[in-house]
Amino acid sequence: MLTAGFSHLQCIACGKRYDSREVRYHCECGDLLEVTHDLERIARAHPDLRELFHRRLGLSLTPHASGVWRYHEMILPDLPLADIVTKPEGNTNLYRQPLLSRAFDLENLYLKHEGENPTLSFKDRGMTAGVSWARHLGMKTVACASTGDTSAAMAAYAAQVEGMQGVVFLPHDKVSPEQLSQAISYGAKTLALATDFDGCMRLVSEVCEKHPIYLLNSMNSFRIEGQKSIGLEALQQLNWQAPDWFVVPVGNAGNISALGKGLLEARQLGLIDRLPRIAGIQTAAADPFYRGWQTDFREKIVVTAKPTLASAIRIGAPVSYEKAARVIRRFDGVVESVTEEELMDAKAAADRCGVAVCPNSGVALAGLWKLRAAGVIEPTQTVVVILTAHGAKFSRIGVEYHTGQMAAPRTTSPNPPVVLPPELEVVSRVLGFAP
Ligand SMILES: *Cc1c(COP(=O)(O)O)cnc(C)c1O
Ligand SMILES: [Zn+2]
Repeated sequence: MLTAGFSHLQCIACGKRYDSREVRYHCECGDLLEVTHDLERIARAHPDLRELFHRRLGLSLTPHASGVWRYHEMILPDLPLADIVTKPEGNTNLYRQPLLSRAFDLENLYLKHEGENPTLSFKDRGMTAGVSWARHLGMKTVACASTGDTSAAMAAYAAQVEGMQGVVFLPHDKVSPEQLSQAISYGAKTLALATDFDGCMRLVSEVCEKHPIYLLNSMNSFRIEGQKSIGLEALQQLNWQAPDWFVVPVGNAGNISALGKGLLEARQLGLIDRLPRIAGIQTAAADPFYRGWQTDFREKIVVTAKPTLASAIRIGAPVSYEKAARVIRRFDGVVESVTEEELMDAKAAADRCGVAVCPNSGVALAGLWKLRAAGVIEPTQTVVVILTAHGAKFSRIGVEYHTGQMAAPRTTSPNPPVVLPPELEVVSRVLGFAP
C-alpha cells in the first residue's frame, strides 16, 4: 500500500523543497510552488498503471470510482483513501459530434465536457483534491476568491466534511445566479465585495495569511493535482493515444498548468509515448496571457479585465501565469484571443448540436475555430477541446442570446420561443402545415 513520502512541495523557480504537509502557497523567494512526485518510486510501486486505472473503470462506492481518484497514485499518492472527500467527480463524457466536426472541418474533434461534473464545472476536480488535503491537514476553515465556479465547488465539498466551514469571496454582482445560489445553498459564508475578482483574490490571500484559514485558490498546489485528471481521463478515454492538440480556455491559468503537468508525468511514466500540443484561449476582454505570449513571455503582463460574457475568465492577473507560460513553451503551444461575438457564436454552435456549454467553453471553441481557419490546426489532426462548465450554469445568457434581448453581441441565429394561443389551427400554420 501507499506509504508516506511520494511527494513534496517544490518551488518552480529556485527549486527549494518543502514538506508537503506544510501550509504554504509560495516559496520564500516569492514564486509558486508545485507538488512534485517521485515518479520513479511510483513506477516501481505500480509497474502497470494502465492496467490499474483500467480495472477501476465502472467501480462505485469507493473513492476509486471518481474520475480524479482513479488516478490516486498520480494525484496525491500520500493522501490516505480515508481522508478523501469525493462526490464522486469526473468521469465526464468525451463527445464526438459529427455536425460540429464538419462545421470546424476537423475529422477527429473530441469534446471533453467538464460541465458534467457534480457542481457543473471542472472546478470539482481540483476541489476534491484541495478539500481532501485540507481535511488531511486538519484545517477547519477553507476559503477562496472566485468568479463563481470555484466557490460553488469549494462550498459543495466543504459541506461534506463535518465541522468544516467554507468562506467565499465574490465580486459583488459579477457572478451568475446559478453560481451564487450554489455557494449560499451549500452553507458557505459568502462575502460579496465591491471589487473585481483580482481585488477579492488579494483580500482572501491576506485573510488566510493572518488567520488559520486554508486558501483554496489555484496557487494551492494540491488543487492543481486534482485538475490534472482532466487530461489523464481524456487520454484513458482515447486508449492512451495522445491527441495532436488540447484546446483550453485560460483565466487564472490553473487549468492549463495542471493539464501540462499531468501530460508530462503521463509521458514520464510511459502512459503515452508522445506529447500533444496545447492551445490556450482567452477572451479579448481579459487577455494578459495572450499578450504575454505575443512577446514570448519576456515579461509578465497584467491588465484590468473588462466585462465579458465569459465571466469565469474575467481575470487581469492570472495566478498561475508562470506555470502556464512554461507549459506553452514545453508543449510547443499557442495562445489565441477571441471576441464576444466569436465566443457566443461558437457556444451557440455547440449548443445547437446538443452539447450545452458555458460562454467560457465558447472561448475555447472559438479559439479552435480561428486556429483551424489559420491552418495552425490541420483538418486531419486529433483535437480535444476542454469545455469547462455547463450551459445551465449561465442560462440567462442562453435565453438572452436566443430571444434577441442581448444588446451585444449580435445574435447570428436566434431561436426564440414562439408565443401562440393554444389552438390547433394556429399551431399547424406555424409548423408549416395547412390548417
Ligand atoms: C475557472 C474556469 C475557467 C478558467 O480556468 P483557469 O484555471 O482559471 O484558467 C474556465 N471556465 C470556467 C467555466 C471556469 O470555471
Ligand atoms: Zn523559490
